[in-house]
Amino acid sequence: MPTLAVIGGGAAGFFSAITAAEVNPDTRIHIFEHSKRVLAKVAISGGGRCNVTHACFDPRELVTRYPRGAKELHGAFHAWQPQDTIDWFQARGVALKTEADGRMFPTTDDSQTIIDCLTGEIEKLGISLHISTGVSKVSRQPHGTFTLHLSTSKTLDADRVIVTTGGGQASGGHQISRDFGHTIAPLAPSLFTFHIDDPLLRDLQGISIENASVRYAPAKLRQSGPILITHWGLSGPAILKLSAWGARVFQELDYRFEIAVNWLGDATIDEVRQRLEQAKSQYSRRNLGSANPFDFQKRFWERLLEIVSIKPDTQWAQLSKKHANQLAERIANTRFQVLKKSMNKEEFVTCGGVSLKEVDFKTMQSKFVPGLHFAGEVLDIDGITGGFNFQAAWTTARLAGLAASKGFPR
Ligand SMILES: Cc1cc2nc3c(=O)[nH]c(=O)nc-3n(C[C@H](O)[C@H](O)[C@H](O)COP(=O)(O)OP(=O)(O)OC[C@H]3O[C@@H](n4cnc5c(N)ncnc54)[C@H](O)[C@@H]3O)c2cc1C
Repeated sequence: MPTLAVIGGGAAGFFSAITAAEVNPDTRIHIFEHSKRVLAKVAISGGGRCNVTHACFDPRELVTRYPRGAKELHGAFHAWQPQDTIDWFQARGVALKTEADGRMFPTTDDSQTIIDCLTGEIEKLGISLHISTGVSKVSRQPHGTFTLHLSTSKTLDADRVIVTTGGGQASGGHQISRDFGHTIAPLAPSLFTFHIDDPLLRDLQGISIENASVRYAPAKLRQSGPILITHWGLSGPAILKLSAWGARVFQELDYRFEIAVNWLGDATIDEVRQRLEQAKSQYSRRNLGSANPFDFQKRFWERLLEIVSIKPDTQWAQLSKKHANQLAERIANTRFQVLKKSMNKEEFVTCGGVSLKEVDFKTMQSKFVPGLHFAGEVLDIDGITGGFNFQAAWTTARLAGLAASKGFPR
């Protein structure tokens, strides 16, 4: 009976092992997980609810959510995309629901539902799970099979290997891949929030500006969407997206850089000035503190006025040109110094990993070593927040599992 070894007991490891077992029940399959706990990231994902995938069903659109991996994932998504993930879980009794922003969660709002489903499947399919068993090295035998050297001092011979050790420094798969001649694209955290100490933000934590945008001009990076003021700076979808697209640039800058925020999304300074002019005639007798022409929360609007030294009891009719200009500039182009990054507790990933040029994306097989496959975050793939990282794990794992379970010599 041929043997398949899967290194790593996360989402990609489980999904590739399950796929292989479903396709070829005549394969002996082992999953090796070096920690005591499998699917640990699934457990904490999405704030404990597991954002399994995203309701985006057009591969062309879907790939635009991946700062790294878009080109390679395009074909892969034609083979396995969010609808396939939904159907797969549905067929195993796990219903997913879609939230207003497209994120999909189990209807139970509990990541344990996903864990129970995946662990139930591996039990049913007779896959051997070895916890507290790391793989420290993989060597290749002259006849093309592999020998895995385990942390238990034992070895295991396998015909095929799938590396699913995740991203980040703890991923043992990077060294294993390097040993086989693979290049590891430099690692950098993605999906983080910005530390900013600025009087405009102080004590305003919890306020969300729904249609804002943020820019890092030197790299021509711009993202729009809600921005959330936190007690340490800025977070929210627009900030997280900027952190993902700029992951490498910001790492090079040691997370010290200047951003510009437009609290109205894409309104120009001139357009804001015009809206202030209109407000002057519309609210002429009312004071600025009580008549706010934008949809900003009161505390945020009052702070904007304070920052440009406009007294809230100033009548709109009395708003000077100088103050109007300063206010327009603040609204459309507030500059902040980012001092450092903080990890986003809801979801974070590592960009970098096994170079995509060295992997065949139809089979997720190494272009150098037949029988060696990769899936999940160990690859140089990462998505923005919203369920895209798990979808990349399900898709690459599916392809790896299918290919690694086929074509054994009889
Ligand atoms: C807090 C948090 C929340 C998140 N929430 C979401 C979300 O809601 N939606 C989403 O799409 N993404 C989310 N992500 C990202 C997502 O969890 C990852 O992209 C995904 O888990 C990657 O799966 P993986 O199987 O490739 O890697 P991992 O889940 O990291 O699994 C790799 C496994 O390999 C093991 N391993 C490493 N080296 C070895 C070795 N040498 N031998 C044996 N085992 C080894 C590790 O211990 C680990 O268990 C979140 C991430 C974090 C940190």
